[in-house]
Amino acid sequence: MRSGSAYVAALRDGRAVYLDGELVKDVTVHPAFAEPIKSIARTYDRARAAATDPALTFAEPGTGRRYSNMWLVPRSAEDLGARRRVHRFWAEPSYGLMGRTPDHVASVLRAFAAWRQLFDRGGARFGDHVVRCYERARDEDLYVTYAIVPPQIDRSQPAHRQPEPFLYPGVVAEREGGIVVRGAQAIATSAVLADWLFLSYITPLVPGDEDYALSFVVPIAAEGLRLYPRRPFAAIATSIYDYPLSSRFDEVDATVVFHDVFVPSEQVFIYRNVDLVNAQFHESPSHTLANFQSLVRFSVKLEFMAGLAMKLVELHSNEKNAAAQATLGGDIAALCASFDALVQAAERGPLVVGGVARPHPQYIYAGMSLQRRLIVDMMRTLRELAGGAFQAVPSSEASFTSPETRADTERYYRSGVASARDRIKLIKLIWDFVGTEFGGRQLQYEMFYSAAQPVVNTRMFKAYDWPAAKAAVDRCLGEY
Ligand SMILES: Cc1cc2nc3c(=O)[nH]c(=O)nc-3n(C[C@H](O)[C@H](O)[C@H](O)COP(=O)(O)OP(=O)(O)OC[C@H]3O[C@@H](n4cnc5c(N)ncnc54)[C@H](O)[C@@H]3O)c2cc1C
Repeated sequence: MRSGSAYVAALRDGRAVYLDGELVKDVTVHPAFAEPIKSIARTYDRARAAATDPALTFAEPGTGRRYSNMWLVPRSAEDLGARRRVHRFWAEPSYGLMGRTPDHVASVLRAFAAWRQLFDRGGARFGDHVVRCYERARDEDLYVTYAIVPPQIDRSQPAHRQPEPFLYPGVVAEREGGIVVRGAQAIATSAVLADWLFLSYITPLVPGDEDYALSFVVPIAAEGLRLYPRRPFAAIATSIYDYPLSSRFDEVDATVVFHDVFVPSEQVFIYRNVDLVNAQFHESPSHTLANFQSLVRFSVKLEFMAGLAMKLVELHSNEKNAAAQATLGGDIAALCASFDALVQAAERGPLVVGGVARPHPQYIYAGMSLQRRLIVDMMRTLRELAGGAFQAVPSSEASFTSPETRADTERYYRSGVASARDRIKLIKLIWDFVGTEFGGRQLQYEMFYSAAQPVVNTRMFKAYDWPAAKAAVDRCLGEY
């Protein structure tokens, strides 16, 4: 397994990241990206230190070589448990705030390679490409991210009827040994921090969209590939004390633009095939496996939120107050425990199809459907518990050191159980979670990281056991 320093060194590859109109020379030292990169690097180091830990790695049959469980093809509930452990391992360092850690798209590639028959339908060489790219990503421990949703230009029209050709990414030419791709995808979270990009469409394509019906991987540093990050939060955070999350765990969403990027054939999984692009995520186990990562990661975040809520209540000596206890129980703990149960149900009762254990779709989509409501409810509850705490704070850490303000700051910002410095530290942490630009993006991420609510709800509709529900009604009707 590669070390954190090898991961960081690989990011110095001449990638084209443009921030505020300027090319970033080295993302690993730029203040906007250095801290999140360090955070990922530390987890690579921890993973390397655990390279023989049977809880987090498996031995590949045949070679005996050990790999992270993120590359394990699940055959049983136990295997899904092994995957859950590695998802927690990657989620815990950021308290579930970084969603697109390497184990997310690794789940997609693992699922694709376990389901090569789908890609073979486009020609056997495509299945080979999938398996080889998967093996390379696994062997080299690559961080892959993805861009699978096109920009919001005209949602009433398919790809080939947008105002101009190749606003959405599509193939503009075939060249010796590969294809040339032009166009943009809306968001690739973590692309600045990653090694490779997987590009395709999860939004349905229609006949006529053949030029856009692609699925492939490219290195982020591929010639002609540009990343345009939104405003990174680390760059505007004035200190870790004042912005403990913004400064360290911004995974940086970026728009991806392809300026006639050459993609070698052996990196292409689907070529000009609308049906296969539409089928790849749901016919293969990739959607349920990747979103299992998302749910495990979210449960880590919920635990963290529960901890924040409890510590906030304790900070102001409210823990014995019956109303505060009822809020903590009903509006925090009940939601966290219910969500945990969904994750466990998805893992323990998998749907085994073609020898691959899919986390049960009924619970995956129930979790995804609830997630966006829970995050809103939990954030609102944290705000309720805080009252005016977020506003009655010193403007920055400097208030504690200035001889002019130190005495007042220490005297009036303390609580009955904590010094002013410790109390404000917790308050600023919670505000960074619920109220800053970083916090707002967290909310938007949970609402949209996968799809709009109606899309997720339709998945849930398809996954639910309606015949069983209707049978109960028929039985009742038959009784009289
Ligand atoms: C923080 C963040 C990170 C992201 N990271 C990634 C990433 O790493 N890779 C990636 O590929 N994508 C990423 N996405 C994009 C994400 O996949 C899309 O935002 C999501 O699929 C929704 O698509 P959209 O943004 O085009 O919104 P739209 O689909 O245009 O939805 C916008 C509005 O239209 C409504 N709407 C949409 N469809 C319907 C419908 N059928 N019926 C009724 N109403 C509808 C929605 O409810 C919503 O209110 C990210 C998004 C966010 C916010």
